[in-house]
Amino acid sequence: MSAPQQRPPAAINAMTVDVEDYFQVSAFEPYVDRAQWQDLPARVDANTGRILELFEARDIRGTFFILGWVAERWPQLVRDIAARGHEVASHGWQHTRVSTQTPQQFREDVVRTRALLQDLSGQPVPGYRAASYSIGRAESWAWDELAAAGHSYSSSIVPIRHDLYGIPGAPRFAFRTAGDRLLEIPVTTVCLAGRNINCGGGGWFRLFPYGFSRWALRRVNQRDGEAAVFYFHPWEIDPEQPRPQGLGARTRFRHYLNLGHTYGRLQRLLADFRWGRMDDIFLPEAGRR
Ligand SMILES: [Zn+2]
Repeated sequence: MSAPQQRPPAAINAMTVDVEDYFQVSAFEPYVDRAQWQDLPARVDANTGRILELFEARDIRGTFFILGWVAERWPQLVRDIAARGHEVASHGWQHTRVSTQTPQQFREDVVRTRALLQDLSGQPVPGYRAASYSIGRAESWAWDELAAAGHSYSSSIVPIRHDLYGIPGAPRFAFRTAGDRLLEIPVTTVCLAGRNINCGGGGWFRLFPYGFSRWALRRVNQRDGEAAVFYFHPWEIDPEQPRPQGLGARTRFRHYLNLGHTYGRLQRLLADFRWGRMDDIFLPEAGRR
């Protein structure tokens, strides 16, 4: 008689939030100048507050990749995120894609943002995520800069083919880079018929029915035996956000698709899986400060 099968403990996946406002997304760059940002009605503070309440209600701790621009204007938000037990991480200063910066510009941006976030949170900031996952094949130099600036990990690539980002053929799961000084942790994809499909959040979470996300993340946990990395933005739970005029059709479609469903889907996602912080899952040897 065989012993009863022991069920493996449910995997812990990383829940991440990219803390930026609706007008700061890369797709709006042709329509909204950075100089206008300070004059637009801000929603990021209130929307992130709703996310903190949502996580609190389910006793979930996650990682918040925060823009320096946001941290400078809402310092209390950063302190609040840290005080509630979440990981504070960097999303760069003002959402400039890596691919449009020189190494020196990138270095200054990364150093300035990390210093502010460490000051406000009172904690080391090991994590970084590039605006729009903009570390592509031609930007591998950015990993060296991140390591030199003191970051221990980056979550800045998606191993898919896409018009705006992605490194097709890159590893689907965490790998060491920058001469072993940095861990790159890609956003999660599911491999179907040899093709990687994004199941780690953002517009894809709004596009596909929720059942697909749940199936895909379970497959990653069970078949690949890996932790998933999921991300979303505060503006994605805010269907009432102001809508800038003159946006192109594709941008409108991608940005506004199913915004009214996101909050409900997130509630299901939070209940269906176990979630944690990036540093706890991927840097356990570093230990929590
Ligand atoms: Zn972003």
